[in-house]
Amino acid sequence: MAHQTRIAVPITAADPPLVEQVRAARAAGADLVELRADLIGDISAIEALLQHPPELPVIVTVRSADEGGAWCGTDAERIALLERLGLLRPGFVDVEYTTWIRSANIQQKVGLVGEAGAQLGPASRPRNRLILSHHDTRATPATLADVFDRLEATPAEVLKTVFTARDATDALRVLAELRPRAMRRCWIALAMGEAGMCSRVLAAKYGAFLTFASLQRGRESAAGQPTIAELRDLYRWEQIGPGTAVYGVVGWPVAHSLGPAVHNAALAAAGIDGVYLPWPVGPSFEDLAAFMETVSALPDLGLAGLSVTVPHKEHALRWLDARGMPISDVARTCGAVNTLTLREGTWQGDNTDVWGVRASLPDACGVGRRADVLGAGGVARAVIIALGGLGYRVTVFNRNGARAQRLAQELRCTWRAWDQRHLGDGDILVNCTSVGMWPATAESPFPAEALRPGMLVLDTVYRPVETELVRAARAAGCRVVPGIEMFLHQAAAQFEQWHGTAAPLDVMREAARAAEGP
Ligand code: NAP
Repeated sequence: MAHQTRIAVPITAADPPLVEQVRAARAAGADLVELRADLIGDISAIEALLQHPPELPVIVTVRSADEGGAWCGTDAERIALLERLGLLRPGFVDVEYTTWIRSANIQQKVGLVGEAGAQLGPASRPRNRLILSHHDTRATPATLADVFDRLEATPAEVLKTVFTARDATDALRVLAELRPRAMRRCWIALAMGEAGMCSRVLAAKYGAFLTFASLQRGRESAAGQPTIAELRDLYRWEQIGPGTAVYGVVGWPVAHSLGPAVHNAALAAAGIDGVYLPWPVGPSFEDLAAFMETVSALPDLGLAGLSVTVPHKEHALRWLDARGMPISDVARTCGAVNTLTLREGTWQGDNTDVWGVRASLPDACGVGRRADVLGAGGVARAVIIALGGLGYRVTVFNRNGARAQRLAQELRCTWRAWDQRHLGDGDILVNCTSVGMWPATAESPFPAEALRPGMLVLDTVYRPVETELVRAARAAGCRVVPGIEMFLHQAAAQFEQWHGTAAPLDVMREAARAAEGP
């Protein structure tokens, strides 16, 4: 085992019976459960559970409303309940710092059931460990040290602070503050929200006391908690340690990305000590720059490679350029970086989308052939460069004609009006628009009656894998390349750059299909 960080499963409802939930948590690999008395409501069920030692140590929490809980009684009732449950020796009691600091009287009452340090607690007292916690349900403040310092000045055995992350930079700042402190005391420091995933997974890398993971979707006690299955199977929790290399995808949003499924499966298959995370980074250039600066100030994070997706491909190129960092010719021609690799302290930018297109096409040579490209955005650019490199003569069709004209002039191909697309005579048709993408899956960018048997159709849209265009093309007797193949080949090229070894493409394909569902 690479680390000592525990997994705590929050229990937020009395149904199914608490004893069954604790058993299920243990079977799923949890080390602790947290009984959220404020959410469970049924206090007699909690007492019944604690009367017989449960299968796992328990944290008892009665979270106040102003720190994100559901307690609607008074504070005096809350502390009284905590005392009552604490006397049943759950193992841990959690109290908000703002409550605890309020009076010596509260500290004394809490001290009866939660040992706050070596100097406290005669042997006759219940041996629960005290967790003092702080929750910011709105934001991650610009300065975090004050909050951490305040908690650290207390004698509690475990210190816990939770913020709400706007984007991954906030979550990284929480990790940066945790790192030195986790060597001195037992700390839990997490960022809530979708952007906080790195803080939950990398808690293990930084030696936090625990991370939270729900038993199943819908049973989370805070936004952004992974399920325990995700934590253990997708992110390979057990193997994460101080030396684990970190990768991921930056974009806004990235929740839909197949990157974590595909890259983590590949890392596991190749036996590489690495983890690949989603990094939602706000949409502006400044957001990406702030993220990159924060990462650069955290060398022991071990961030070694990033996939870059919308809207940051152009931003990444600009950021590298401003620092004189190397950018490959293909990325420069594309005007977009989709791969960042850290080598000897310097980020290098590349674009593997072009390779992804080439590698997914069955015909390596396009000399003497024609290609019709629908769309004139970022992917169209990579597709036209790839097709041009293979010798195809390309015609671009785009809804916004001026954009098609500009792109055609720049990449030296021809363009035609969008409403002429059915008149194209390409041997290959490539959809580079977002038409047909989930959730508008019934739409197709091309009239089915204009599809010709034998033509090759590549739909770059890959969510769903079987788009309406792919379905219609198969029905019309076309040869078909679904967009997932381009995605997998560009991801495989990233993998090879980062790890210097062949990508397990079949494993990645399997992982993408499983993540996508039937
Ligand atoms: P983009 O730069 O925003 O370009 C979007 C393109 O779609 C533009 O040409 C736009 O036309 C066109 N479009 C959008 N809605 C349309 C509509 N209702 N009718 C006609 N045209 C429409 O996006 P991008 O980065 O190129 O990505 C495009 C798609 O590629 C994505 O949706 C994604 O599914 C796919 N993709 C695939 C991969 C892969 O590896 N397979 C990788 C990245 C992206 P206008 O210029 O007229 O607005």
